[in-house]
Amino acid sequence: MGENFAFFLPIMMASFGFMFLLLWSSRVRAAGYWSAAFFCIAGGFAVPAGYAAFPSVLWSLLADMLFATGFLLFSEALLQRWRPRWLAGTRLAIWGGSILLCWAAIVRGNLQLELVASDFGCFLLIGVPLVAGKDHLARWPDRVLFGAAFLVALDNLARGSTVPLTLTSGADFSSSQYAFLMQALACVFGLFLALAALCANVIDLLARYQREAWIDPLSGLLNRRGLDAALAKLPGSAVPDGSVIVCDIDHFKAVNDAFGHAQGDQVIAALAALLHRAAPQGAIVARLGGEEFLLFLPGMNAAQAAHVANDVRESFAEDVSAELALDRRLTASFGLSTVQRGDASIDEAIRRADEALYDAKARGRNRLSVRRALASSDLAAIGMGRAING
Ligand code: GH3
Ligand code: MG
Ligand code: MG
Repeated sequence: MGENFAFFLPIMMASFGFMFLLLWSSRVRAAGYWSAAFFCIAGGFAVPAGYAAFPSVLWSLLADMLFATGFLLFSEALLQRWRPRWLAGTRLAIWGGSILLCWAAIVRGNLQLELVASDFGCFLLIGVPLVAGKDHLARWPDRVLFGAAFLVALDNLARGSTVPLTLTSGADFSSSQYAFLMQALACVFGLFLALAALCANVIDLLARYQREAWIDPLSGLLNRRGLDAALAKLPGSAVPDGSVIVCDIDHFKAVNDAFGHAQGDQVIAALAALLHRAAPQGAIVARLGGEEFLLFLPGMNAAQAAHVANDVRESFAEDVSAELALDRRLTASFGLSTVQRGDASIDEAIRRADEALYDAKARGRNRLSVRRALASSDLAAIGMGRAING
């Protein structure tokens, strides 16, 4: 890479610094580290311009410091995904040790030692997150980022190990094979690392926005949009096997009127917590809106689901008003239906569970109603007919 390209690397690295700065302003914490790291590397590659204007050995030290600091920040940026602040003291020691060694080499006029110290320092700094990250590679953005960081580490290790071959003693640095390799490989691997990090951070950001769009902040449960997405993702056939429970707090308007909206919110959160606790692995729990909830229990028949619903109903009636110090009994009504073989979609079971809920309300509240068509074995297991009263 000739002199004509000398301006290219600092501009490229600084551009990445700006991109990550933008991402950081969208509350992506790791992007702040990426941004600062790329600005440091840009500064390191811009040093020859400063040296050309005002020749001094201090420029070499500045470049070594900027590269070491850039790699320290790279390591923290990567560790933000895998193990934040891991071995922070060790990494600081590597950073300081590498700079000190570079300074000693500069004082002695030993360019080879300076480059070896700088390259090995950078290798160790980016090697630490690779050790932490190797157990966190289930998602492909992590794998791509790990691969890019691995290549950068390998580049530094290979370059540092071959300094005597690529920089013959007494040779001018800027025209050496070492300088050519450093710039060419930094261009390729730096680009790969930046794009991988940008991609991984943007995917994380989208996932966070998606989570926020799907989760109801008051209850911590799925909202209706999240429920639709979770149902669509259920494994197996288009119509999953299982039972649907819907429930609604009784006379909730009166609770709000008597104790205020904030206390009403706490009642909603308390029922959500009970439902969440009662939900087995793989179940879907959602707040449909207001004080109405849905629980989908995959693979459960009506008898098993009725036990779950009645446990929640009894806990809510017995414990919650005491927990919240409300001098009024709180109750909720429940509707249950199982997915039937002839159902076109799970929506039909939800509709039947809704009808059962209206039935429970109409018949006095604080009870579970089941809307059909149950198999006779289910009815026998429940030990009663269409409705199970509380
Ligand atoms: P029913 O037994 O028939 O269900 O009577 P209800 O009073 O519970 O039913 P209704 O649907 O008439 O009233 C629901 C109330 O829930 C009305 C609304 O002000 C209140 N509400 C809806 N969302 C929230 C919320 O997020 N927080 C609080 N505190 N109240 C809410
Ligand atoms: Mg209600
Ligand atoms: Mg309601």
